[in-house]
Amino acid sequence: MRWIKALSAVLALAMAASSAIAEDFPPPAKVLFASEAAPTAGEPQSIGFYSKGCLAGAEALPIDGPTWQAMRLSRNRRFGHPDTIALIKKLSREAAQYDGWPGLLVGDISQPRGGPMLSGHASHQVGLDADIWLNPMPDRRLTLREREDISAQSVLKNDGTLFVDPEKFTPAHERLIMRAASYPEVQRIFVHPGIKKALCDDWKGERANLAKVRPYYGHHYHFHIRLFCRPGSPDCDPQNRVDMADDGCGANLAWWLSDEPWAPAKPEKPPEEPAKPPPKPTRPSYTIMSDLPAACTAVLDAPAPAELPQAALTPAIPLPPLAPWPEIGPVPTQRPRG
Ligand SMILES: [Zn+2]
Repeated sequence: MRWIKALSAVLALAMAASSAIAEDFPPPAKVLFASEAAPTAGEPQSIGFYSKGCLAGAEALPIDGPTWQAMRLSRNRRFGHPDTIALIKKLSREAAQYDGWPGLLVGDISQPRGGPMLSGHASHQVGLDADIWLNPMPDRRLTLREREDISAQSVLKNDGTLFVDPEKFTPAHERLIMRAASYPEVQRIFVHPGIKKALCDDWKGERANLAKVRPYYGHHYHFHIRLFCRPGSPDCDPQNRVDMADDGCGANLAWWLSDEPWAPAKPEKPPEEPAKPPPKPTRPSYTIMSDLPAACTAVLDAPAPAELPQAALTPAIPLPPLAPWPEIGPVPTQRPRG
């Protein structure tokens, strides 16, 4: 498949670059996990924490369903714990049936074996996180190419404030997010603080579930659903539960809407003494396999199923032709001494 070749070329470059920086260090775990094209065979298991772990026995979200379309297929991040895949399908179906939401555009879930990624997220490593775009699904099937190129739309006002634009963020958006929050297997939902503010102001339904909807940076193009660790995953590290008695519409939201979270980081005070040369690093600055739970090394080494289900196969995505190399003219063969 063509995209796999393209991906491996990128990975080879990334490998070469990182080994040039740190010859003695093991390769980045994200390069190893990103180069796995298929999940492991066997029972599903989330191992480790949302931002430091991996996933065995993943299931793929089919690229198309009656009420969803998966986006950015070239990233190969539509794998998750089977409960995550089932929840996305259920949300897509119920939102279409009850909420006036025509269907989901599904962004990143996890890689076939979870783990850290080359770009984008700190979490999404154990197959229990999923990004859902805030644009409704169009009433036609997007082409594979469009799924790479179409941008998610921000629901914020264009004026640099933190608030949503009511033209872009509608009651149907609110029903969709609150439906996701209503599912007992969902432990948190991340949204932009402006979205949380709109929900706090407007939501007339069951307000207890507002506690699960947590403001965070970003998340005005998509919202992020996080499931609890699932039964059958004894090595899944749970995150603390949210306090369901606090809907988060008070002090927490006020803080997010203040200047404090958005202030630029203060410049570091220059050291008083002349700086010593930094000590030679004893470990790389990136995550390596020994930073992850030991079981993740076994996940990386485990065989794929003898035959992958149809849903796990990603079709070749037609890419535009590569731009020609720029003409740089003749290069002089003699070099000045220096
Ligand atoms: Zn996310």
